[in-house]
Amino acid sequence: MSEPPRKRMVKPPEGGVEEGRGKPQRLKTAKLRTASSQAWLERQVNDPFAAKARAHGYRSRAAYKLAEIDDRFRLLKPGARVIDLGLAPGGWTQLAIERGVGAVAGVDLLPVDPIPPAHILRMDFTDPACGPRLIELLGGAPDVVLSDMAPNTVGHKQTDHLRIMGLIEAAADFAVSVLKPGGAFVAKAFQGGETAQLIGELKRRFSEVRNVKPKASRAESSEVYIVATGFKGR
Ligand code: SAM
Repeated sequence: MSEPPRKRMVKPPEGGVEEGRGKPQRLKTAKLRTASSQAWLERQVNDPFAAKARAHGYRSRAAYKLAEIDDRFRLLKPGARVIDLGLAPGGWTQLAIERGVGAVAGVDLLPVDPIPPAHILRMDFTDPACGPRLIELLGGAPDVVLSDMAPNTVGHKQTDHLRIMGLIEAAADFAVSVLKPGGAFVAKAFQGGETAQLIGELKRRFSEVRNVKPKASRAESSEVYIVATGFKGR
């Protein structure tokens, strides 16, 4: 006797931005769920990139943001040395390894399950000991420095803004002090952030600097990515 078809909780992934978006599902509320975690869960269930990431085995939907950037700028070349700042849970590092880079060293404040052969540090990137340790683990100067770091927000607009800018600037300083000539720097930034000065500085150091909003970056999020390529050297 044939089994009746199983009911699915989640619509199977259909890929793409538009095609995957069916009628949004509402989840039953659970007593212990807060309104914001309920909203997050509903977003995940209805998000085609989250569904694709689960089906593919990526630890985060963020992998698709880097995939789009890399499809356009060709940064993750075979054999390249890559640094991944703020790597948890690890989608970007997984993608870099999948695309054949030679070595990856990454850091996060949070614990990250191993992603062999990547070297993973649990540390605060702003600790002065972190940069040298990453270069040591990587075994030499990087071709690419990636930063998807985002600080926890405290809800005070000015404080949050200063913390975000502090991290972006720290990542940019690090990139220009360690990259190989011709190398690239990618960093998460925020629209409305005072990045003009930083972008001006990057334009002096790199042959091309772009602001990119990948399709996998939620439209309602103010995040954008600064992509700087062709490092001119020190
Ligand atoms: N790119 C990641 C991926 O593909 O899975 C997602 C990164 S997540 C959006 C941002 C990460 O930045 C968080 O895990 C957070 O802990 C990390 N982070 C924020 N500030 C940091 C710091 N000072 N040092 C190291 N990591 C930091």
